[in-house]
Amino acid sequence: MRRVWALFIFTAVTSLKAEKPFEFPTTPGKLPKHIRPIEYAIRIQPDLAKLTFSGSETVQLSVESPTRQIVFNAFDVSVTEARIDENLIASSAVKADTKNELVTLSLPEELQHGQHTLALKFNGKINQFGRGLYYVKYQEQGTGAKKLLLGTQFEATDARRLFPCWDEPVFRARFQLSAVVPENWMAVSNMPIASERKVSAGREVSFQPTPSMSTYLNVFCAGEFDAIESETEGVKLRIITTKGKAESGRYALESTAQILHYYNQYFGIPYPLPKLDQLAIPGGFGGAMENWGGITYYETALLFDPQNSSITTKQRVYEVIAHEVAHQWFGDLVTMAWWDNLWLNEGFASWMGTKCTAHFNPQWEVWLEKSIPRDPARRIGIPKEQAMEGDARATTHPIQQPVATEGEANNAFDDITYKKGQSFLRMLESFLGEEPFRDGIRRYIQAHQYSNSTTADLWNALDAASGKPVTEIAAAWTEQPGFPVVTVKRENNGKVLLAQERFTIGFSKASDGLWKIPITYFIDAQSAPATMLMSQKTTSLEDIPMDRALKLNVDGAGNYRVAYDATSWKLLLASLPGMNAPDKVNLLSDAWAFVQAGLQPLAFYIDLVGRLPQDTALAVREQIINVFDSINHLLADTPQRDQFRNYAQWVLRPTLNELTFEPIRAELPTAPVLRASLIQELGLLGDQDVIKRCRENFEAYLKNPASVPSDLRGATFAVVMRNGNAEIWQRLHDLGLKTTSTEEKQNYYDALAFATDPALIKKTLAIALTDELPTSRAVFLVSKVARESDRPDLAWEFAKANFKGLLAKVDALGANSYIPSLFTFFTDPNRIEELRSFAKAHLSEASAKPVEIAADEIRFRADLRRRLIEQIGVLK
Ligand SMILES: [Zn+2]
Repeated sequence: MRRVWALFIFTAVTSLKAEKPFEFPTTPGKLPKHIRPIEYAIRIQPDLAKLTFSGSETVQLSVESPTRQIVFNAFDVSVTEARIDENLIASSAVKADTKNELVTLSLPEELQHGQHTLALKFNGKINQFGRGLYYVKYQEQGTGAKKLLLGTQFEATDARRLFPCWDEPVFRARFQLSAVVPENWMAVSNMPIASERKVSAGREVSFQPTPSMSTYLNVFCAGEFDAIESETEGVKLRIITTKGKAESGRYALESTAQILHYYNQYFGIPYPLPKLDQLAIPGGFGGAMENWGGITYYETALLFDPQNSSITTKQRVYEVIAHEVAHQWFGDLVTMAWWDNLWLNEGFASWMGTKCTAHFNPQWEVWLEKSIPRDPARRIGIPKEQAMEGDARATTHPIQQPVATEGEANNAFDDITYKKGQSFLRMLESFLGEEPFRDGIRRYIQAHQYSNSTTADLWNALDAASGKPVTEIAAAWTEQPGFPVVTVKRENNGKVLLAQERFTIGFSKASDGLWKIPITYFIDAQSAPATMLMSQKTTSLEDIPMDRALKLNVDGAGNYRVAYDATSWKLLLASLPGMNAPDKVNLLSDAWAFVQAGLQPLAFYIDLVGRLPQDTALAVREQIINVFDSINHLLADTPQRDQFRNYAQWVLRPTLNELTFEPIRAELPTAPVLRASLIQELGLLGDQDVIKRCRENFEAYLKNPASVPSDLRGATFAVVMRNGNAEIWQRLHDLGLKTTSTEEKQNYYDALAFATDPALIKKTLAIALTDELPTSRAVFLVSKVARESDRPDLAWEFAKANFKGLLAKVDALGANSYIPSLFTFFTDPNRIEELRSFAKAHLSEASAKPVEIAADEIRFRADLRRRLIEQIGVLK
């Protein structure tokens, strides 16, 4: 085993230098490559009373060279019997290596080259934290009855918790699942049901075998479900929910038909399975998971109730479906060979999903939107800027990064993987052109369907389709960390000098880098954009009129920042009135990043905000709201905070006045979203009129919920709680306990996090240990409190005292980062040592990276806070 390990680390490191196209034998991984599973037949029998299961499976193996050992993955699963070609293997020859999540069978005789059958019996546990086979307890809609359902979540490496398997993405096989469920339950897996029969414990359901696929894409869900269905282009579509909620899946069902058609065209290969089920699960895990033919969603990411859901929910539902359905090709039909190329799955699905969403819903401004969701992550709403912010820090990593252990595979699901990946693909598409890019994707999918791939395979396909040196351009963006800032300097003769260097925040020892940057620019806001590839450290633009504004990074679509000299900046400021919203957002984002990095004073950003024409463009105002919100938190407990709050109200209030507090007919589709953001932020900043109106609306809501538009409810509750007492807390809590709608429940409990009275803060924190919220949401109530109450100390005190109970509820992706992330709300560098020693005593080795990210964040926040306090005098 050790030898295989050493070999793997070696290949992983060298592959970064010059990655090769996909080849099975050289793909990284722990498992020996001379035995491959071809087909599994798996039978699972859950025991719902004991929350355990027993299972059996036969695996057809292809043995490429004679061997005395069979090695596969299993974790928290005991193998009770093993047979090879029907010969019993002595139990003393079955060795479990818990640390490495492996089982080794030592055979009495050498197994010869050819096909063999492995038969195993095993048993394991059903857990509540969304890894492997999990259970969810919930209240049934309508009846309020307490019910239980079963679901699975396998990515990255948890299929091995349900059945012993070759649990690395490169070991593709066909899977034929059977499961025993209670008589009145519906059972769902990747493929349609082949047969059913009565058994003593209920009903045994057998599914058709899947095509060749990776283990982590298997799915099994069962419970008292309802479904609605339709058919599009020969594929049976279903939305499956717990009883009483199926009609809320109507929007998802209709959107899926639209999205599936779009992808059938785009990829040039029709969706390959006979059906596509999508399940809304009220707990278990937090995001969405692209299991082939059976996608699972946390309920609020799939269900939309036209009467009671907000427009933000509607948009998120569309975006998440578009992301997950894109994976059915990119990820499922073609799968990354190893976790070091996770970005291939996630960067691509994020980009494709957003492209598709923008195509059908241009009114949502999705490329600019702050809440581009990701899966299967637990956090929702990661600003696009956040990936660039993380990528500027000392703790960043290249998009393609070595992954050695299961724990590291789970760490790979971060902003860099999703958002930088997406951002780079968007930049590349605009450089190559929409059609050549699509042709390259078609070529790639065609060549690797039902197989695996590496990043090199994608670049080769795009090279061939576009005739441009994609491999060469891409290397710097995916294989080195960070991204560039381009400086713009005007010369006297119409010449503009451009120079690139690495952009960093609080990271003085950063290595420099050189990027091939697809630069886009325009002269004045009206002229057509031009493009050039900047391959060297410096270059120049010629014939730029001296008296006209020059803007680089058109629409902010490029993954780089731009620093202008004083003359160019002045001309740009003068051209703001004619500039479109994406370019304004881009200038604001860059300006704030320069303040964060200490390259410009706060006045630089404030001056830009002051010069913007008054308008209600969602993305422009959202950028400012986000920055104000973070400044407001950073200034907690300082005398400067009041001054800032007055200024921020003065900037934001006119926009709310223009929009009006109550919705009006014939307003922009983005108006309700902006209105809710403004009301919440102004309420938190202390705008007395907004607080008063929120209180009135809350009273009205208690009498008649329909009196407050669904878009405004979350903001209203938050503002009322921020300025409320124990009685308000109790009312919100009672409402939360009573509702069976996951979305409404979330609104009420989220609001509790806004309380500032320490006694109420403690009451909110205690909910995290109860069954009131699904586990995946309950644990994040603690982070929500740490952020919104400005009392991260109370949140941490609570988490420290209860960390075992909390970690028992955290899913695979949060396991390493959950505790460190609670420290990211501190601004006191003394906390760094406290985190390190806690991690050393209580957390796994895979937490080391999240600990360093949190430490860097604390230092950054402490530094920015110090500078803001010094510079706040600029807000006269
Ligand atoms: Zn994804």
